[in-house]
Amino acid sequence: MPNRLAVYPGSFDPPTFGHLDLIYRAARIFPRLVVAVATNNEKQCLFTVAERIEMLQAITRDMPTVEIDSFTGLTAEFARKRAAVAIVRGLRAISDFEYEHGMAVTNQKLNPEVDTVCLMPSEPYLFLSSRVVKEVARLGGDVSHAVPPIVLERLRQRFGQGQSTSDSSSG
Ligand code: ADP
Repeated sequence: MPNRLAVYPGSFDPPTFGHLDLIYRAARIFPRLVVAVATNNEKQCLFTVAERIEMLQAITRDMPTVEIDSFTGLTAEFARKRAAVAIVRGLRAISDFEYEHGMAVTNQKLNPEVDTVCLMPSEPYLFLSSRVVKEVARLGGDVSHAVPPIVLERLRQRFGQGQSTSDSSSG
């Protein structure tokens, strides 16, 4: 099947270098990859679905086999709709395993046509999560090692911080 398609679902609130690492890895394995923003818990998210899609599109612009989409409801149903053969998820630590395992088995029941493929990020991204990035950025900490420049800019805008703190006067 030359057109094997995989979906990589998540909140991506916001996308990090960890997500990007997984996108690169998955795009090496599958001829087509759909990165899909789950819209189910939009109210708890810092960025709107449109903003998250825009950031994902910007950071995958040079990857022609990667498409950005969004979906509401079950991942298994979205995978069926896109005729996906796989759902890609990330495993950072053992703590991710229990949740991902439960989801994988559930999705297998809901859609036997699709398998979950878990990928491990490279070492610098093992402890990276959108939640921690948001917490640090909100408190004014540097997250430039954790997110692509466009995401850094959006975080600064969201938290009302200037472009650079190096030349600002502390009074
Ligand atoms: P959610 O957990 O709400 O689905 P996330 O955007 O937090 O959405 O994560 C989407 C997927 O990407 C999950 O499988 C998660 O484990 C994985 N992921 C998130 N951050 C990283 C990272 N730093 N390295 C590898 N995988 C990651």
